[in-house]
Amino acid sequence: MKIIFHDDYKDSSYASDTAAAEGRMESITDLLLKQREYSVLKPTAAKVDDILRAHTEGHFNRIRQDEKLFRMALLSAGGAVCAAEIAFDGEPSFACIRPPGHHASRASCWGFCYFNNMGIALLKLRSEGKIKGAFVLDFDAHTGDGNIDVLSEYPEIKILNSVSADRGAYLAEIEEHLTGIDGIDIIAVSAGFDSYEKDFGKKLKRFDFYLIGRLLKQFSKRLCNGRRFALLEGGYYLQDLGKNVLAFCQGFE
Ligand SMILES: [Zn+2]
Repeated sequence: MKIIFHDDYKDSSYASDTAAAEGRMESITDLLLKQREYSVLKPTAAKVDDILRAHTEGHFNRIRQDEKLFRMALLSAGGAVCAAEIAFDGEPSFACIRPPGHHASRASCWGFCYFNNMGIALLKLRSEGKIKGAFVLDFDAHTGDGNIDVLSEYPEIKILNSVSADRGAYLAEIEEHLTGIDGIDIIAVSAGFDSYEKDFGKKLKRFDFYLIGRLLKQFSKRLCNGRRFALLEGGYYLQDLGKNVLAFCQGFE
């Protein structure tokens, strides 16, 4: 299992939103980077061509006007690309990146997101002929409208934003959905930990993140040679965020 991380993600001055909060990355990395069984890989910034597969030039140019934000958003997208490439090559990966991306559509963005990290990563693999079909699970408390917008024209890429109101049904919904899927080359996860019981979503317990990770691992082995990666999206209850991310990784690894 590889953790994708760059020290620059700790710089909270790129924006003033909740995802950019000071100490948020540290609340994860203080725990995650200490795990001996995980190795850390430092990503490079995404290339302009990679961004433009997922976004209009107008949107790209708007983000570019803010130099600091632009640099951070490129590095976050680069982390996503790196995670997807490692997964394609056969090792599971978790990209501990920010800003998040699942609310970034082709021509607009909101919700602390600027570039669509998931779309950029999957469309890069697709453009290189590495994958055709993919399954994207988004377990963030908020629907990944940006993922849907960017990926909707690719019918081989299927997206599930789980909606069930209670934990048991939530896990069952994911399992049932995975059971009906075939013809995919990779499993990708928009991992939003604000679905935690003490965060916005007020739903999942820590052990549920482990179970979701394990379920995805099992299905990835059955469906796509174990190829799987996850990208950090939301998650704002900093006292427990690192433990929740670690729980997911322990199931997913
Ligand atoms: Zn969210």
